[in-house]
Amino acid sequence: MGEIYLNGQFVPPEQAVVSVLDRGFLFGDGVYEVIPAYAGKPLRTPEHLQRLENSLRAIGMQAPLSDVQWDEIFARLLSASPEADQAIYLQVTRGVAPTRDHRFPKAPTPTVMAMAKPMKVRDPAIAREGVAAVVREDIRWLRCDIKSTALLAAVMLRQEADEAGAEEAILIRDGLALEGSTSNLFIVLDGVLVTPPKGQLLLPGITRDLVLELAERAGLASREADVPVAALRNAEEVWITSSTREVMPVTRLDGQLIGSGKPGAAWQRIDDQYQAFKREARRGSA
Ligand code: PMP
Repeated sequence: MGEIYLNGQFVPPEQAVVSVLDRGFLFGDGVYEVIPAYAGKPLRTPEHLQRLENSLRAIGMQAPLSDVQWDEIFARLLSASPEADQAIYLQVTRGVAPTRDHRFPKAPTPTVMAMAKPMKVRDPAIAREGVAAVVREDIRWLRCDIKSTALLAAVMLRQEADEAGAEEAILIRDGLALEGSTSNLFIVLDGVLVTPPKGQLLLPGITRDLVLELAERAGLASREADVPVAALRNAEEVWITSSTREVMPVTRLDGQLIGSGKPGAAWQRIDDQYQAFKREARRGSA
């Protein structure tokens, strides 16, 4: 791994250390972002930084850096492998306080960290076969719109999915499917692309918005509407989306086939658009 940005400096990973009194360590009191970058060009930085600001504001913090400062940090992190596709991870915590106390410190100094790592190339089997998912009760909190580093419920759900041989756990609250433990959710029902509406119960995914745009470009009808669990199970297609997973077709849900059990025609159309969009991004014209 290359250098890590920590509180104004770029340091080797072994020197990127924080205090055990950091509130991120003690309470998960922080927020984060993951930004994909293609050949050194981050995708939708303004949208990611706006979501970061929304998360910070929601937890009573202010932006520690300007957008220009973030851009400079990202450029330096990405410059270590300029041709590679990488994911930038950044996090901001409420910093170190003198003692462990739930209440906010009077004058917090945030801990700011960012790093880049190579993005995994999609296994070609996924485009041929799709992935498996399981359905689980959503045991997370009621502010899933905040991209908080407090991810224990998501960690447990993703682990459960993994142990069930699945790529993702799709989460249900009050009979409605909301999103995955680490992704947003789309279904195709009666030929229409449907994704749950934004609100406090799911993360407003940047990829989610992009997929809605690409659907419009591709002439695929889409709607933001509730997805009852029965609609999920009876859908013609199910997809999960995220910055690092792109658009992934789910072909098995709790062991039952979705549609034909193969990635569907609508997924293929959107994936073609997505891959074209990435090529434009690499050229710097997305
Ligand atoms: N929902 C959750 C719970 C997530 O963790 C993620 C990925 N971080 C997403 C949705 C997808 O968001 P994005 O498209 O911005 O990566």
